[in-house]
Amino acid sequence: MRNFINLKNSLLFLLSFSASLLIMGCAKENNENLVVEALFIDEALAPYFERFIAEGTSRGEEIDLVAKRIEGFLIDIEEENVAGQCSYSPSSTRKVNIDRAYWNSATDLEKELVIFHELGHCYLERSHSDAQENRNCTSIMHSGTSGCRLRYTATSREDYLDELF
Ligand SMILES: [Zn+2]
Repeated sequence: MRNFINLKNSLLFLLSFSASLLIMGCAKENNENLVVEALFIDEALAPYFERFIAEGTSRGEEIDLVAKRIEGFLIDIEEENVAGQCSYSPSSTRKVNIDRAYWNSATDLEKELVIFHELGHCYLERSHSDAQENRNCTSIMHSGTSGCRLRYTATSREDYLDELF
């Protein structure tokens, strides 16, 4: 939904979370020097990225976050009411940015929802879907501006994840 990324902030977070989970990406030959690309996923977000892999895999999708160069950052998003963003350009990694204040007050299902929505953009390359039934959003890829309501609960979750993948 948002495509702007403050690269400087990302680099600062990259450095400040050096103790967090690092996923080592593919090694590439480059002028005879071996370049190993490190992809960063904040340790607070990592369990939800792992859930995304598990849910996709259980639905027959092969989920390879490294191949699509996915990273995950907890940052302070300055825009109001933005819980998460996916940003990528052809020359960079694909970054899922999650707002720290939102994250700190979110329930487990809310955390899963925002991560899965952003990975829906960043990994599955889906755009928004505001399909609805009786004013209930039928996709977690809804834009948030169409007026439909999303009831993402322990029981409705399975249907939403079937739709996502
Ligand atoms: Zn979105």
